[in-house]
Amino acid sequence: MMLSSRLQAFTPFEVMEILDIANNLEKQGKKVIHLEIGEPDFSPPPKVIRETINALKNGKTSYTSSYGIKTLREKVVNYINNKYKTKLNIENTIITPGTSLGLFYALSALLEKDDKILLLNPTYPCYPNFIKFLEGKVIYAKWDLEDIKKKIRENKIKLALINSPSNPLGIQIDKEVLNFLYEHIPLIVSDEIYQGLIYEGKELSSLHFDPSLEKTIYLNGFSKYFGMTGFRLGYILAKKEVIEAILKLQQNLFLCPSSFSQEGAIYAFDEESIDYIENIKKELDRRRRLVIKLLKEANIDFIYPTGAFYVFVNIKRNSKNFCKKLLLKKQVALTPGSGFGPGNENFIRISYANSYENVKEGMKRFLEFLKS
Ligand code: PMP
Repeated sequence: MMLSSRLQAFTPFEVMEILDIANNLEKQGKKVIHLEIGEPDFSPPPKVIRETINALKNGKTSYTSSYGIKTLREKVVNYINNKYKTKLNIENTIITPGTSLGLFYALSALLEKDDKILLLNPTYPCYPNFIKFLEGKVIYAKWDLEDIKKKIRENKIKLALINSPSNPLGIQIDKEVLNFLYEHIPLIVSDEIYQGLIYEGKELSSLHFDPSLEKTIYLNGFSKYFGMTGFRLGYILAKKEVIEAILKLQQNLFLCPSSFSQEGAIYAFDEESIDYIENIKKELDRRRRLVIKLLKEANIDFIYPTGAFYVFVNIKRNSKNFCKKLLLKKQVALTPGSGFGPGNENFIRISYANSYENVKEGMKRFLEFLKS
């Protein structure tokens, strides 16, 4: 069957190939240590679980408003206003079925054919796919102010799509870089799904630069900080007219996010839930420090991580082959860097969203294999 040429622009997630091999090994009874998955290993806050179950029992199983449930939108806006001292209101937000879809909505609402979009390379794999699908042009810059300046000088950039803290780098974008982007680029789409997961330094958000969302579309969700990946919930913050445009997309494409997921998510912002997550964050930080210590002791090149739950490591050889061999020989799964943009073939991404013991054992086997 002839598939659309549009879809051919989409590349599959490279990590899926690794996951397939891992699944096969597991079917053969082998125990694989998963350090490839970008998914928290902890459960969502207990109150969220309880209230989701109650919502189902109480018949909250119908469509909701296409904006999302009003109480949840209010909770989101209050949380953001308290955290960033912004003055946003409910008209500035829409609840989406995940941040990924929110990104697709935002880009669909803003892009014209041949618009140039700046991405910082390494980048989250779906960004270039979405941009190409919408017939935009990807302009890559390194995570370096001089290269960003050069790319902006050479190209008429309409929009920068940024992600901080970053998947796969585990770092925040520098203040100087954000300043420069805000001064020189008309639109900023900011994916802040790892917000809250910062272990060193001050958190920097697009909302610190543009509190009234003059040129920012802010994206976030419940998957990472709250560990609620399967709830499929995200949210967008933007000017009212952008939200209204996105509403039309949501009405046509999805109608609304899951009703009972939304009912449960209302309780994610309660003190009890935030305390629960902040405790988990301490454990994530313990694992982060372990990975840093082991990499330093082994004298390996890596990007010093301060946020999210990833470490990007230079293994100085083709990482795709390396990851496959490591998995088959040592049963440790890592993500090759090649999926995160051109030039990252010699890097791997470690996710420390696994137990301390598994991270320790996985790192031991990885480093042994790297040195062998
Ligand atoms: N953005 C980034 C940078 C991510 O790493 C992920 C998940 N891996 C997403 C978006 C997707 O999040 P969601 O589950 O909310 O769709």
